[in-house]
Amino acid sequence: MSFQVFGIPVSRGVAIGRAVLVASSRVDVAHYFIPASDVDQEYDRLTRGRDAVTRELQGLKADLPPDAPHELDALLDVHLLLLNDTALVDAARQWIQERHYNAEWALSAQLEVLARQFDEMEDDYLRERKADLEQVVERVLSALAVEQDAAATGGAAAVVARDFAGEDPLLLVAADIAPADMIQFKRSVFQGFITDIGGKTSHTAIVARSMDIPAVVGTREASRLIRQDDWVIIDGDAGTVIVNPSPIILEEYRFRQRQSELERARLARLRHTPAITLDGQRIELHANIELPGDAVAALAAGATGVGLFRSEFLFMNREGELPSEDEQFAAYKAAVEAMRGMPVTIRTVDVGADKPLDRMSVNELRHEHVLNPAMGLRAIRWSLAEPSMFRQQLRAIFRASAFGQVKLLVPMVAHLSEIRQVQEAIKRVKQQLDESRQPYGEIQLGVMIEVPAAALMLPQLLKHVDFISIGTNDLIQYTLAIDRADEAVAHLYDPWHPAVLQLLANSIAQARKMGKEVSVCGEMAGDAGFTDLLLSMGLRCFSMHPSQIPSVKQRVLRADAQRLSTVLPRILDSDDPAKTATEVFAPHQRFH
Ligand code: PEP
Ligand code: MG
Repeated sequence: MSFQVFGIPVSRGVAIGRAVLVASSRVDVAHYFIPASDVDQEYDRLTRGRDAVTRELQGLKADLPPDAPHELDALLDVHLLLLNDTALVDAARQWIQERHYNAEWALSAQLEVLARQFDEMEDDYLRERKADLEQVVERVLSALAVEQDAAATGGAAAVVARDFAGEDPLLLVAADIAPADMIQFKRSVFQGFITDIGGKTSHTAIVARSMDIPAVVGTREASRLIRQDDWVIIDGDAGTVIVNPSPIILEEYRFRQRQSELERARLARLRHTPAITLDGQRIELHANIELPGDAVAALAAGATGVGLFRSEFLFMNREGELPSEDEQFAAYKAAVEAMRGMPVTIRTVDVGADKPLDRMSVNELRHEHVLNPAMGLRAIRWSLAEPSMFRQQLRAIFRASAFGQVKLLVPMVAHLSEIRQVQEAIKRVKQQLDESRQPYGEIQLGVMIEVPAAALMLPQLLKHVDFISIGTNDLIQYTLAIDRADEAVAHLYDPWHPAVLQLLANSIAQARKMGKEVSVCGEMAGDAGFTDLLLSMGLRCFSMHPSQIPSVKQRVLRADAQRLSTVLPRILDSDDPAKTATEVFAPHQRFH
């Protein structure tokens, strides 16, 4: 049966493929294709995993003390029954044979099918057996990991596909995907994402956008309604998911997919064109990156620098262990060298809120003991609470500055005392580097303007820093008191809100007045729908996902910055700025 699910569009384009349902707790299971010739071998691996767990459970049963409660014995019997039921491992064979999934993926895919059947059962007792089934599968996955340990990487890192040409495209469907997991899906087998949870600027959405593949979040129930292996269309422009489409709909979307590929190819030709407005204003289009390897995409898209390196992604998926100074240095140096002398703005670690260090879903976060993590110990607050970790990161960044142009960006500043503490830490780090004769270059210090307090006290802040970068994602969140990751209030997350526009326009104007560099690195900068607005406010440096550079550049090339600045007051005075903007920017758009 064909049906639609509606959500929040977060990454553009059309993706058509088969649904892969993954439980949020299991997104780190390895997903890769095996060669057709390895099907039997892979199935043997799965059965060996099952047999190992059978022996383990039998052993536990045999070792039960005579006075152990009868329930324990009965529970082990249930687990043994579930484990050896043909509906599990035997049925998982079809995923290996027909889809060429690896053993872990096949088992999780089959678990999702069975879990759905359990959910639909009338009988409470039987329905509750789902938890037992999950435990059994967890054991088999552990057994497979032990077997695989010596040979393979394990974890979601293994999603880096072997050759998957010729396979049906796959779209990942999950209740929620943590940013730490999402980052592991870069270069994975998945060509689109659908989640129940999330908002447009949640970090999970941001990482999906950075991958430049269609994604829809905040669907609330996609993972419940879509079934394993269903054919699905993701319309990443409209935020619609069409499940089991009719042949006519499928053909229409295939056509749209081809059109958007053609449009991308057309825009890609702008790569070497400098971003200069009609009235001759040069605009810097920088890239936001999460990992040093992303610098390749930044260069390919024609970025003239990195405006935001979200260093916290280096700190994730490490089982609680932080990256050493040398590891960080290597990562920063790699990005700096890749950018060949262009500026690389490294933001100090911004963990907390929806980016915990360890994998945790938004749901788990909400139920954590920290009731309001977005307002808690995140970003610079966390760094200053961990001074030795912070100095370690600063040392790594300063060492990398010997290899190119590095700028240091501090997230979530709200107090002058925070800048003072950062400056003291920098002084100490420089002394340490001098003592150990390690070279470093000149580094400009900047702060992110993402808390309204910082925007409102900008004249004071600007005296102490070299540049500012406006993080509109958080600035909107904190100004409007809207959790950016919460789909329930996503409709109120409004970049056009007059209060947001006032803070933005004033911050840009004040920085310019004081001769300090200002950029915007939040998601607004990469949305071509806001390019005219930001230009009208006097912004000359935008930082965004590399894939967004071409469409923003096209807007810049068609803009008359001088004319735009003359209409800004009308937008700022308007009760409905979004509507006024369409009216006052429209003549310019018609002109082209
Ligand atoms: C922002 O808040 O706009 C920003 C760029 O930082 P992040 O999205 O990583 O919080
Ligand atoms: Mg931010």
